[in-house]
Amino acid sequence: MYWEQAVQCEAGTDVGLRRKNNEDSHCVHLCPDEAEWRRCGHLLVVADGMGGHAVGELASQIAVETVPHTFLKSPPGDPRRLLRNAILAANQAINERGTQNIDFHHMGTTCSVLALTSRGAVIGHVGDSRVYRVRRDRIDQLTFDHSLQWELERQHGNFDGIIDLNQHRNIITRSLGPEKSIEVDIEGPMLVMPGDAFLLCSDGLSNQLCDAELGAIVRELPPAQAVKLMIDIANLRGGPDNITAVVARVGELPANVYPQPVEDYEEDEGGVSWAWLGGMWAAAFGLACGLALWIVGQEVKGLSLLAIAVTALFWLLIVHFRHRHSTQLPVQSVDDSKTHHSRPHRTAVGLSSKDLAELLAKIDGELCTAAQADQWKVNWAEHGKCQAVGLQHIREKRYSKAIRDLARSIRVIMEQIPRNPR
Ligand code: CA
Repeated sequence: MYWEQAVQCEAGTDVGLRRKNNEDSHCVHLCPDEAEWRRCGHLLVVADGMGGHAVGELASQIAVETVPHTFLKSPPGDPRRLLRNAILAANQAINERGTQNIDFHHMGTTCSVLALTSRGAVIGHVGDSRVYRVRRDRIDQLTFDHSLQWELERQHGNFDGIIDLNQHRNIITRSLGPEKSIEVDIEGPMLVMPGDAFLLCSDGLSNQLCDAELGAIVRELPPAQAVKLMIDIANLRGGPDNITAVVARVGELPANVYPQPVEDYEEDEGGVSWAWLGGMWAAAFGLACGLALWIVGQEVKGLSLLAIAVTALFWLLIVHFRHRHSTQLPVQSVDDSKTHHSRPHRTAVGLSSKDLAELLAKIDGELCTAAQADQWKVNWAEHGKCQAVGLQHIREKRYSKAIRDLARSIRVIMEQIPRNPR
């Protein structure tokens, strides 16, 4: 990824329709200048607190404050190590706070972090908040849920009959805070392609919308609209939990920027080998000796040595430039129909534009009927306009336009949704 690629980012959070407190927290840090970005990268964090009432809020808040603070203050280094250390620091801070006050005992939080660095996307993760990547029609879940369901699937493959997941669906097996030590999952670095979008979310979102729906919405809409629509749909489906979504879309590489090789952590591919360096020194030495012999009158020996040294120098320079050329693969040469350097834990194809447009038309129609029956104070003139244009675009098979109109139509009603927390 390159500094010149603009990152469009939007975050949203909502208490939902059943909870009184929002225990989710999030943080977006986009580097203001290239120097800072090269040192650490853009950082996005989602944390879903637990422990009840203000305790969960506190835990997730400490996580989204400690992780960026530690990560951004670290000396330059491998972002995987920096990310792990930042999450461990957050665990320690929450654990210490929990042991100081009996009211805060057992407080915890999930923590999912995405760093967009010059070396690609790197993820640090504990819990069941998720990081997805949306690339064209596909959505990949890049994080492993530390939940009972996923752990049982990993251990047993098929866990039918082992446990009633309807009762234990939300049990998570790892979180920041309760224990002094914690294992952090690190994913990446993964190549970031122009147009890639990333979604970080709490389970209040991923439990209400399937991957195919999330993928299609993030693909079709600008981040701000996508975040609002996903939260609206999660609420329309009951809003049983707090909902948080962060969407970041990586822009195209400007035409005047020449792609550089993707850097690697283990070895410096831009450097030269010791053998090549030794050859250069030997050739230079031969050149100097040849010149010296020629000057002192031994012309035949001197010219012979000079010819050998010059030939060796040319050969070494050709080898060097051929090596550099082979490592500087322009981004355009990568087959971007495939995923590179990534380990998605799940993958799905997003809904087609047609299916998403028709789904939104159905949701909007049902919502409209319910809102009219309950006499919500909605700007019906604006809603009617958005809805009519959206349905017209569906009839004309202009589905992407229809999705934008119908997302707006749903938003107009959802702005007035009654909130009656239990
Ligand atoms: Ca939650």
